[in-house]
Amino acid sequence: MEDLLELERIRSDFPILSRLIHGRRLVYLDNAATTQKPRQVIEAISNYYSYFNSNVHRSPHTLGEEATQAYEEARAKLARFVHAPRSDTLIFTKNTTEALNLLAYSLGYHLLRRGDKVVVTEMEHHSNFVPWQQVARRIGAVFEVVNVTDDGDIDEDDLDRKLEGAKIFSFTHVSNVLGTVTNVKRLTDIAHQKGCVVVVDGAQSVPHMPVDVQSIGCDFYAFSGHKML
Ligand code: PMP
Repeated sequence: MEDLLELERIRSDFPILSRLIHGRRLVYLDNAATTQKPRQVIEAISNYYSYFNSNVHRSPHTLGEEATQAYEEARAKLARFVHAPRSDTLIFTKNTTEALNLLAYSLGYHLLRRGDKVVVTEMEHHSNFVPWQQVARRIGAVFEVVNVTDDGDIDEDDLDRKLEGAKIFSFTHVSNVLGTVTNVKRLTDIAHQKGCVVVVDGAQSVPHMPVDVQSIGCDFYAFSGHKML
């Protein structure tokens, strides 16, 4: 009974769950794609546009200063959330797809030359596959895809071979396809030993587990606020 009351209390934070769909109470399970927003988030966004909206880091008036402060406080909060070394190591993008594209078209273009190798795995979401594949194609770099074993893990023998001489390794922390939780620290260490820059797709991990980017030791870690309420 207490559990049911708690459930109702949590549900009541989400205005969208008051909708009836086909005459029944809405139960929303598509959270891996995007989560619904609780009223606290909706109110914060509405409050910002109602009373604070202005150009951050640009406008030298009260609204500009308040908006900049709120923006930087959000960045600092997020830095603490994933234990980033400093808040200025966080870059806001609209989602993981944009973050990984930004990396492929900046880091990728900066580091890769014709014949260089960039490595992903077979269990990547398209967002961590297509950008690297496209950048490799344009530069004339080699795009390698590491095999996945029958029990849904990254094949470490294949990884070892494919990372040889590679410049970038980009892989997922939690697979949206298989549910596999990869051994992110170990894979990062292996790739660093081979001299690779390591990019991690955290779209399905940050919403579900504590993530400490410093203890993982990766060079870049991408995730989506919209998948976290
Ligand atoms: N990577 C993984 C593992 C995902 O599950 C998703 C979303 N399903 C993405 C990347 C893309 O995230 P977004 O839609 O926020 O860009």
